[in-house]
Amino acid sequence: MIYRALGNTGLRVSQVSFGCIRFDGLDQPRVTQLVKRAIDGGINYFDTARAYGSSEVYLGQALRELGARDRVILSSKVIRRDLDAFKQDFETTMRNLQTDYLDILFLHDVSTRKNWDRLISQGTLDYALELKKQGRIGHLAISTHDGAMGEMMIRTGHFEIAMLAYNPIGRDVEQTLLPLCTQLGLGVVIMKPLGGGVLSEARSAQLGFSVTAKECLEFAVSNPHVSCIIPGMDKPEYVDTALQVGAQQAVYTDAMRDALTARISLQGKNYCRGCGYCLPCVKNIPIPTVLALLNRSEAFGGLDWSQTHQIAQEYTQTVARDRLPEQCIACGACVTRCPYNLPIPQLMKEAAVKLRRYD
Ligand code: SF4
Ligand code: SF4
Repeated sequence: MIYRALGNTGLRVSQVSFGCIRFDGLDQPRVTQLVKRAIDGGINYFDTARAYGSSEVYLGQALRELGARDRVILSSKVIRRDLDAFKQDFETTMRNLQTDYLDILFLHDVSTRKNWDRLISQGTLDYALELKKQGRIGHLAISTHDGAMGEMMIRTGHFEIAMLAYNPIGRDVEQTLLPLCTQLGLGVVIMKPLGGGVLSEARSAQLGFSVTAKECLEFAVSNPHVSCIIPGMDKPEYVDTALQVGAQQAVYTDAMRDALTARISLQGKNYCRGCGYCLPCVKNIPIPTVLALLNRSEAFGGLDWSQTHQIAQEYTQTVARDRLPEQCIACGACVTRCPYNLPIPQLMKEAAVKLRRYD
């Protein structure tokens, strides 16, 4: 395994690390085995979130069973913006992870001005900074799907790490936020290296092109601005591929990256890249989040129970009742801003039918 500096944090992370977003549909023995396989292979950084259902609980217990808490770097994310809810979620996270110290805390998916303003006006950002002063967290970090918001937040100087989406079909950050993070000394953690699942072998075959997960991991990890990538893994063979890529020096040049992107045709496929240009929605619908979940639900066609369960869980936790796709009034404001001309109102209608909540 090759390790890289995580910006100026002083931490060194395995260049391919572990995104625990898919743990929710598994059980404890399977999660413990996956975590053990990863640690044995040299992965030293695990990322989870309060919004990932049982993921934190499984991960915390796996680390306890393996006696590995002190050997790994651990991050989680809190998505609540209001101070009391944030405090409550943070304490739940610490209990779930069975730890009194979190190496990295992310403010989760801060992709709109409104979210950011709430974090400021409610004192939630100040509270998160206070957690760092108290030594309960090591580093404060931000995750976002919005380029302009990302740049503004990175420039505040409050955050040491940024989590950004980057893959062969989502390259918006390549010339902008990635070099900016390097310039300002932030660590870069890459989420969605497989495009949220669309770039897996099985799903790409359904969509009419051919790409392997290994190619996509190599694509992202070869970028010199990237500290590490965190593919979501729920099978031992996925961990083995991650370990293989983690042990390699960078193999992708800029020309190879372009060639891989050119091989993937999503024309006419209504696939959302998660870039966030469509926001803000007049009804406050988190369009990229809804479309990412819709895409995953279509990819698994209701056949994979664990994925279906996880999607419903995430949908319940990340899309508030008053921001559901059912609220769409088809005003079309978002459509004019989407660079891929996606028929967003029609997709909101589909999402309203296909996505199910647990409450
Ligand atoms: S068309 Fe629907 S999703 Fe788009 S901005 Fe209007 S209400 Fe929001
Ligand atoms: S709907 Fe279009 S603009 Fe909005 S996140 Fe998806 S691809 Fe980007």
